[in-house]
Amino acid sequence: MSQKEADFIIVGAGSAGCVLADKLTASGKYRVAILEAGPSDNRFWIRTPIGYGITYTDPKVNWCYSAEPDPALCDRTLYWPRGKVLGGSSSINAMVYHRGQARDYDDWERAGNPGWGYSTVRKIYESFEDLSPQKASSVSRSKGIPNETRLSVYDASADYHSLKDDFGRAFSEAGLVSPSAICLEGEGVGPYLITTRAGKRCSSATAFLHPATNRSNLEVFTNATVTRINLKERRASGVACRIAGKPVEFLARREVLLCAGVVNSPQLLQLSGIGPLDILATHGIQPILEHPHVGRHLQDHLGISYFYRANRPTLNNILRSWPGRIGAGIQYILQRSGPLSLSVNQIGGLARSQPGNDTIDTQLYCNPVSYQPVADDTRRLIQPDPYPGFIMGFNPCRPKSEGFIDIRSSDPFVAPRISTHYLATQEDLDGIVAMARLVGRIQDTEAIKDILANPPDLDLSSMDDDEILSDFRERATTVYHPCGTCRMGPGIQSAVVNADLEVFGIDGLRVVDASIFPNITSANINAPTIMVAHEAARRILKRLEA
Ligand SMILES: Cc1cc2nc3c(=O)[nH]c(=O)nc-3n(C[C@H](O)[C@H](O)[C@H](O)COP(=O)(O)OP(=O)(O)OC[C@H]3O[C@@H](n4cnc5c(N)ncnc54)[C@H](O)[C@@H]3O)c2cc1C
Repeated sequence: MSQKEADFIIVGAGSAGCVLADKLTASGKYRVAILEAGPSDNRFWIRTPIGYGITYTDPKVNWCYSAEPDPALCDRTLYWPRGKVLGGSSSINAMVYHRGQARDYDDWERAGNPGWGYSTVRKIYESFEDLSPQKASSVSRSKGIPNETRLSVYDASADYHSLKDDFGRAFSEAGLVSPSAICLEGEGVGPYLITTRAGKRCSSATAFLHPATNRSNLEVFTNATVTRINLKERRASGVACRIAGKPVEFLARREVLLCAGVVNSPQLLQLSGIGPLDILATHGIQPILEHPHVGRHLQDHLGISYFYRANRPTLNNILRSWPGRIGAGIQYILQRSGPLSLSVNQIGGLARSQPGNDTIDTQLYCNPVSYQPVADDTRRLIQPDPYPGFIMGFNPCRPKSEGFIDIRSSDPFVAPRISTHYLATQEDLDGIVAMARLVGRIQDTEAIKDILANPPDLDLSSMDDDEILSDFRERATTVYHPCGTCRMGPGIQSAVVNADLEVFGIDGLRVVDASIFPNITSANINAPTIMVAHEAARRILKRLEA
């Protein structure tokens, strides 16, 4: 069997792993090998923002997981896409960029994680966000890679569909707060920021990994699936991997950094004998250390869309018709602008479900496009409804319900069990009703009535609580923000990693990805995951240089 060696072995080149690969190789002092189960991201439908609708179900770049049937959702089985490609889920996501709200991180710190409060992490965000205005057509379209590794966070509002003005009027009629400048953090509804640069997706691979690949101390392995963390006397000594079907051992001179994401990081810990004893025993895995919280505390945003017919053209008219598609294609090729350069999620942000609420509890989405879900719970984003339509919807910011992820088998190629346990608390159920009523208030504004061709299918304001909840149970889906399955906390009694993201009881092993969130953040979680990786790199390097 072949063997390779590096100072750091990074497992998974997703939102977090790509950042670590950049930061840990920048000084030239340390050798890093990054192992990614999926292929290269050099694909047209990854680079082109609208390609989201294609990669969403493409098993070449997507793990295409399914959760267990959830009784709270009428026993429906939700589709759980996850990126399996350089850039991970940031290569297939909807590109909306939002930090969440200060309270999210202050709660992380209050849960026993010093240095993770908002006053600190805000500076980390500022260190990697490139918020400079850019016009797609004015940014160089050469092959050049920027010198600085920063994430491009683009204010695309000028390119958004004209329905944005109608949504804006509806928000102010409904008494919602507009953001003070841009929708970056905290309360405020308006145009979403997106992670694109010059009209192309700016994934974590684009922003951080690719600019680092010319360094001689970084090796990137694709189609390289890690099957186990090798442990010697409670120290991670490396990993076992399969590259194009062949076994390869990687030795870590310093640390193994697990960045395999919310599903696969707990899976790999359990496969390696670190997890709840009963789970290890069920699958005949020799326990190395009982770790009761590995795979527990799964949190996610569960959302719903309400569908409307418009009395004027929406993106449906462009994306559904051949002349519309050809026109949009030409605009994209010539100017890198137009609908193909954007996310389908254009307008929204964070709001209070009731005026005067002391918490910002609702994330809103208002999209100038509509696409009815198909039977298997996936969505055909490239085939919108055959009439002008739009969507308004919401997800609760901070649901309390928790599920879990456990291995189903000792075979690393068998997908783990995803048990979601959505809507398990009364607080979560009450929140759904309050937030649907908020959408009802927006739907009843003159601004929305002015753009409707027909009365809404659901009159949210006159539905009773049970009707709202039944509809939610029948139709709600994940908005793809699972986190928390290797959470950070003060000790092994309640968590998996400490505030430096080191696995309790095991030396030389950290988890750095969305699975370490102590609580879900209020909005989309790509930004917080990238922030976590920056802070992890800072802590790793600080320790080495102490
Ligand atoms: C369809 C979709 C839409 C989304 N939309 C948005 C959005 O608009 N805005 C937003 O902020 N967030 C969005 N998200 C969420 C966000 O992109 C993810 O939460 C974030 O990218 C997670 O980062 P991560 O580093 O934890 O994991 P990932 O980015 O998923 O990276 C994990 C990587 O590890 C690799 N890996 C796993 N197991 C192994 C193994 N055994 N060996 C080697 N490699 C392995 C995977 O292939 C993957 O590349 C979306 C997610 C999806 C799926």
